[in-house]
Amino acid sequence: MAAPEASVVHGTKAVPKDLPSIDKLLRLPAAAALLQEHGHSLVAGEARALLDGLRALVLAQELGLDALQPAALEAALERRVAERLQSRMRAVLNLTGTVIHTNLGRALLADAALERLLALMSGPNNLEYDLESGGRGDRDDLVEGLLCELTGAEAATVVNNNAAAVLLSIAALARGREVIVSRGELVEIGGAFRMPDVMASAGASLVEVGTTNRTHARDYEGAINERTAMLMKVHTSNYQVQGFTAAVDETTLAPIAHARGLPLVTDLGSGALVDLAQWGLPPEPMPQQMLVAGCDVVTFSGDKLLGGPQAGLIVGRREQIQRIRKFPMKRALRMSKLPLAALEATLRLYLRPERLAQDLPTLRLLTRPLAEIEAQAQRLAPALARALAPRYAVAVAPMLGQIGSGSLPVERLPSAGLTISPVGARGVGSALERLATALRGLPLPVIGRIAEDRLWLDCRCLDGREAELLRQLPALSEILR
Ligand SMILES: *Cc1c(COP(=O)(O)O)cnc(C)c1O
Repeated sequence: MAAPEASVVHGTKAVPKDLPSIDKLLRLPAAAALLQEHGHSLVAGEARALLDGLRALVLAQELGLDALQPAALEAALERRVAERLQSRMRAVLNLTGTVIHTNLGRALLADAALERLLALMSGPNNLEYDLESGGRGDRDDLVEGLLCELTGAEAATVVNNNAAAVLLSIAALARGREVIVSRGELVEIGGAFRMPDVMASAGASLVEVGTTNRTHARDYEGAINERTAMLMKVHTSNYQVQGFTAAVDETTLAPIAHARGLPLVTDLGSGALVDLAQWGLPPEPMPQQMLVAGCDVVTFSGDKLLGGPQAGLIVGRREQIQRIRKFPMKRALRMSKLPLAALEATLRLYLRPERLAQDLPTLRLLTRPLAEIEAQAQRLAPALARALAPRYAVAVAPMLGQIGSGSLPVERLPSAGLTISPVGARGVGSALERLATALRGLPLPVIGRIAEDRLWLDCRCLDGREAELLRQLPALSEILR
């Protein structure tokens, strides 16, 4: 909120009769201009709130007379109106080193997806309309063919996010019956997505088999009975069990399930549609591999490694996908036209795999050459050092980032960036907090991370956005003054 306190002086104190009336305030030239631009409701509401705040300060004898001068009132009103109109959802610079950052919106949309949004969303479209027959269509049809082509699946359907895909798949295939899962795979993903709870919400009974570190084929076999509806594998995307471990892979598990007439369902979490190893990145299991291994249903996210909008993709055998699509809960979890348009455009980019690392911003960032990131950090260092001197020292440093969003948590991405340390031994913690707060307070907030008595700014995700950071350095110096 605009802070009248900012104008507090210790000179002449204002008294109640110094306060202007609302009418008088609204007749000031700047207020009249605001009324002209935004209409009466917003501007008068803010004017009233401004006066209320000022009155409280006057009564507390905390307001100087000059805060009630016309220019000060105009500026305060302009500030309030601008603040009310500023969106709460803001663009930020992600210099955390985590490329697919769940708290910062995960994958970045490709230009192709953004273009489709602009082209399609301001008018009607054929979301559920079959242009050939002129009859009702199914929104799944917009992407099903592409998903089948890219993964080799017989059928595909899409919902809001992968959590919904898992919930719906379990509910549709196993409601009122048992689902067998290894104890080593009862994952919790951030935001209260815990496999046992999901199972309960879907109305299925979880049957845990094996132990935290070791589960064998015979554990699954021994648990199958007439109440069993399916076997399930969950990709342990955000942790790794190391040492004396054993897990049963899909290739082994599929025949065990199929021999008893049961489907095998795998939740891949991220799921990459292309082999990341071709860019030297750690490999991530692909849905197409899971289908070849014999899985009947595979679920994965749209906004993790796939590089698209929030979405939950369900691919697999026609029979199971059909049951999932027909289940009433699907209607409540269906994708809206906005992400669906972006998803279709993103999936089409996979038809040109050679261009993916340029076309998908998230993949572009993940594959950015280290030398380029280092050179960028070197270029930025002097300007940042000047802006922060003399209280902070800036250094170029190698760092380790990560892919993020639960993908490949153990693998680190060699990167480079800037570390900022407070000069002087005292109050390091509070100096760093102050700096982090100042960076977040910029018009384009800059998000770094604090560790080892330094603030780390990883430059990997600053690709093409250097100027935006440099432009804000005067404002940063100002805030820190
Ligand atoms: C991320 C993840 C989910 C949840 O996916 P959302 O798209 O975030 O809903 C579910 N399972 C696994 C294994 C995941 O990694």
